[in-house]
Amino acid sequence: MFDDALHRTLVGIVGPSHVLVDDDLTAGYRVDWTGRFRGTTPAVVRPRDTAEVAAVVAACHSAGVALVPQGGNTGLVGGGVPGDAEVVLSLRRLDHIEPVDRRAAQVTVGAGATLAAVQQAAVDAGFAFGVDLGARAAATIGGMVATNAGGLHLIRHGGMRQQVVGHEAVLADGSVVRHLGGLLKDNTGYDLGSLLCGSEGTLAVVTAVRLRLVRRSEHRVAALLAFTTVDAALEGAWALRDTLTSLEAIELFFGEGVELVCGVLGATAPFGVTHPVYVLVACADDRDPTDDLAGAVDGLDGIVDVAVASTAERRAALWRLREGHTEAINSLGPPHKLDITLPASALPAFPEQVRARVAAVDPAARVWLFGHVGDGNLHVNVTGPAPDDDRTDEAVLELVASLGGSISAEHGIGVAKRAYLHLNRTPAEIAAFRAIKEALDPDGILNPRVLLPPVGAPTTPPVR
Ligand SMILES: Cc1cc2nc3c(=O)[nH]c(=O)nc-3n(C[C@H](O)[C@H](O)[C@H](O)COP(=O)(O)OP(=O)(O)OC[C@H]3O[C@@H](n4cnc5c(N)ncnc54)[C@H](O)[C@@H]3O)c2cc1C
Repeated sequence: MFDDALHRTLVGIVGPSHVLVDDDLTAGYRVDWTGRFRGTTPAVVRPRDTAEVAAVVAACHSAGVALVPQGGNTGLVGGGVPGDAEVVLSLRRLDHIEPVDRRAAQVTVGAGATLAAVQQAAVDAGFAFGVDLGARAAATIGGMVATNAGGLHLIRHGGMRQQVVGHEAVLADGSVVRHLGGLLKDNTGYDLGSLLCGSEGTLAVVTAVRLRLVRRSEHRVAALLAFTTVDAALEGAWALRDTLTSLEAIELFFGEGVELVCGVLGATAPFGVTHPVYVLVACADDRDPTDDLAGAVDGLDGIVDVAVASTAERRAALWRLREGHTEAINSLGPPHKLDITLPASALPAFPEQVRARVAAVDPAARVWLFGHVGDGNLHVNVTGPAPDDDRTDEAVLELVASLGGSISAEHGIGVAKRAYLHLNRTPAEIAAFRAIKEALDPDGILNPRVLLPPVGAPTTPPVR
């Protein structure tokens, strides 16, 4: 229980100004980015280094008080905010970035370093970081490891798991595991770093990570392609994926989303009319990839409009149309964010199917679709239903599972989807997950409300 004694202990570890208890001060830590998930907390604790994290975790462990690790609080499944009794452990002050190791093409960073800061450090040293996502200014490396973030460039460089070559973390009892050497060939037992990727704060608190860096491409080009049908857009996207060696990102979105982004954010679309479907393609290379992109686009069927952007300013304007979706949809009220992957064969029919499923459950709900289509990932956002009305979530996730898809492509399970894990995972798999959790956190103090299904949740085999 959180009591005066624990409060004093925490103040003794991190100092009085880094134990926040006033409602005003804790407010931003208690609600998620979408506004859908909110809770209360006895305190937000802000350690500055690994030793302080270890002491805070050990103190909470001794007192039997649960913790929710939190980074930039940009997660979209409610996993980084407290329920009603957990202490929030903010990792943002662990934001150090060591000098880039040029020989190894690696960098060691604190869990609280933002993605944008790591990207800048990589560029300053002549490299790039392989993962990029819209929340780059606030999302932290610790949170990105914990969610195994995917992002815009997964098609080229992989997701967070593929970037992590070393880790440091605090276990539930306050002990520290550290393996930051960055050796690429290192078969010395279990790969704890990989296990932490996607563990959502349930197994350990990530305090530092060693990351691989990738080659920096000096030349970039982006193009917005407009199509009249989903089929044509998908065929085009797959053809570009298979022919362009410089491909960095390939995104799909729809006319209604572009109109919303333009209306809410004041963005400008490049064409005089709104088209039904768009594919945004980005290339990066050591030499100008414009001709390669133009040649690949020329060979595609069904394109009705093309806008090519070579300058940074024009590329940013095109990207605004895609990246603005999250913010623009949020302006309609707390969205239900469902982030799914489908087998390629199921993608063409999915937009119509999912709209019909949602309409059958809640005719007033609106469906917004966009995503990293190059890797089969679509974000299904539903606006209209109340935050605690899960009927449309259930309908969408059941449809996705029945099509052989994943109910979480890159955002994780969090609180939002824990009751649906059985749609993708067998009882034996969930039992193995529980065994891992119990081995590393037997007292259940690390983010106890996320990822694993609540006791009594359905355990029926996955629909295939
Ligand atoms: C505009 C926008 C665009 C986005 N685009 C993408 C995208 O393209 N791809 C994608 O994958 N995600 C995307 N996201 C989601 C989000 O940015 C990612 O999930 C990101 O990885 C979360 O990082 P964070 O630091 O904000 O983590 P938080 O939201 O603070 O936490 C997320 C989870 O990680 C845990 N956690 C946080 N830090 C630690 C730590 N140090 N140790 C252990 N556990 C920890 C939390 O307990 C929680 O379960 C987007 C979000 C927004 C708002």
